[in-house]
Amino acid sequence: MRKESQSLAAESQYKVPLSSPDITAVEVEAVNVVLQSRWLSMGSETQNFEDTIAAYAGVEHALTVNSGTAGLHLCVRAAGIGPGDLVITTPFSFVASSNVLLFERAIPVFVDVDPASGNIDVAQVRQAVDDLKTGGAAAAKWLPRKGAEAAGELKAILPVDVFGQPADLDPLLAMAEDHNLKIIEDACEAIGAEYKGSKAGSQADYAVFAFYPNKQMTTGEGGMVVTNDAEAAAFMSALRNQGRAPGDTWLAHTHLGYNYRLDEISAALGHIQATRLDEMLAKRAQVAEWYEQRLGDLALVETPQILDTTTRMSWFVYVVRVTPEIDRDALIHKLAERGIPARPYFAPIHLQPFMVEQFGYQEGDYPVTEDLGKRGLAIPFSSVMTEAQVEIVCQELAAALED
Ligand SMILES: *Cc1c(COP(=O)(O)O)cnc(C)c1O
Repeated sequence: MRKESQSLAAESQYKVPLSSPDITAVEVEAVNVVLQSRWLSMGSETQNFEDTIAAYAGVEHALTVNSGTAGLHLCVRAAGIGPGDLVITTPFSFVASSNVLLFERAIPVFVDVDPASGNIDVAQVRQAVDDLKTGGAAAAKWLPRKGAEAAGELKAILPVDVFGQPADLDPLLAMAEDHNLKIIEDACEAIGAEYKGSKAGSQADYAVFAFYPNKQMTTGEGGMVVTNDAEAAAFMSALRNQGRAPGDTWLAHTHLGYNYRLDEISAALGHIQATRLDEMLAKRAQVAEWYEQRLGDLALVETPQILDTTTRMSWFVYVVRVTPEIDRDALIHKLAERGIPARPYFAPIHLQPFMVEQFGYQEGDYPVTEDLGKRGLAIPFSSVMTEAQVEIVCQELAAALED
């Protein structure tokens, strides 16, 4: 706690914040109304928020949860994933997308990512699915060095919509259909994005949005599971509420559940944010365009690439890649000295200490992920950023690159 508030204080020394929520008087008023009502959990704000997101994302069911991680965990439970089950996913993500598999003692089967987008490499998924179905030595080459003796059946694919750009879903959906697999879409970074004209989260078996303060919209902490599967929605609804099935009283628990509920204060905030989402996404797109105009021709950085399949980008962060000869971490330090915060994005999941310990991963196992992990640089980005702030960041970045 202490450490966090110290780093927040340090952050305020910066000329431009790394990220910032976009909160107006309307949100403040909505939160006030809830506080004055004294009804703080499981009420109409939760229902309104869910209805708004379901309509926005074009899905039948939306369930608020108290984090994106909690939402992904519910999806893993709904998919029936248990000990030893295999789930194909990527190590180029926020750690939660793999952790939720470990919570159930399932085994993530990592495949590398497409270098353009950082999204799951569909050709590798196809190969992995075929090899895992074949078994034996063919399957073994996709499994981790350590712990593979526990490997069971392939159950699901978990693609991540990295930085707000949807994963290439069509081939994944076709493979899922052919092999009876579930698709869990980690759309935590991609609310409002569109893949070939379809909203992120609307085509998978289950998908999750997240509302941490740096996301496109926020509830403080929070998330939302979306699905068109009524049975799964009812099951996840029970699990988030301590396993209470419909008809269970307060102290009756049909299932092993959790407290993954979102409170009414957060839901009221989220409801207003959801009604402002298109406005905020348009502002983020404008900020991205200002960056592209200034950084697009800079020799030492590569700006983000938008795929043809991305008919609408939902800008989450703005991550440039430095060219291989630049020391990214030294650059972050130089930028900090110039008053500009910047962060690596992402740190490869397979090289996190607990992953190495459990599965024996080594440097070199996922070269594209590792390369992107070494060269990615998230620079200040939010919907409240001004063109003048973008200009300052770009000037300091150009100067720091010349230091
Ligand atoms: C934000 C995010 C999550 C969820 O994070 P929470 O902090 O639990 O809300 C999950 N996956 C990815 C890729 C994310 O960016």
